[in-house]
Amino acid sequence: MGTRYVPFGYEITDGALAVIPQEERLVKSAFELYISGKSFKSIADRFTMTGIEYREGKPDWNKNMIKRMIENERYCGKDDYPQIIPAELFKQANELKSKKQLDIDEEKASLDKFIRQNTVCGKCGSRIHRNKHGRYANAYVIIDCANDQCGETSIRESVLHEIILSRINELIDNPILAEPESNSQVIDRAGIEQNCLSIT
Ligand SMILES: [Zn+2]
Repeated sequence: MGTRYVPFGYEITDGALAVIPQEERLVKSAFELYISGKSFKSIADRFTMTGIEYREGKPDWNKNMIKRMIENERYCGKDDYPQIIPAELFKQANELKSKKQLDIDEEKASLDKFIRQNTVCGKCGSRIHRNKHGRYANAYVIIDCANDQCGETSIRESVLHEIILSRINELIDNPILAEPESNSQVIDRAGIEQNCLSIT
């Protein structure tokens, strides 16, 4: 028999589930901080500073620990666990989480679409290929030139995202860069449209 796993905030004493008061306070504050708009990451950082361990030997909190905490229905009394979080607060937190996820998905989908439609190889002007590698949390996308003869090196899509975002920030700070004669190398809409027309 292995040790039975109980979520953070609980322990089994004399065969019964009990709340650990010090940890209970942290669980409550995770929900309250999340509702107030704090991110999983920033809550995790605060918890690490308290010195209270997530599990024995795990003093460093990460955002996934907080996420799993917010999703864990046992905190509002499921499976005969002593209730720590009122049902209403639990619901509020999880609705907020779904909404944030939707926003992220939408943003990401529109950025992916933008990249697919507007990115061409900087060397030969051909369309790009997006190739998925890895699985699950380790998945990433490599972008390379669709033209086999080109020989342009590939780039991780996440790196391209960062370049695009920094270009957008540059444009916001300095709108004159958007003039046609600017020598933008990464995103050059006029050039892109010309290239696409000449290919298709
Ligand atoms: Zn190329």
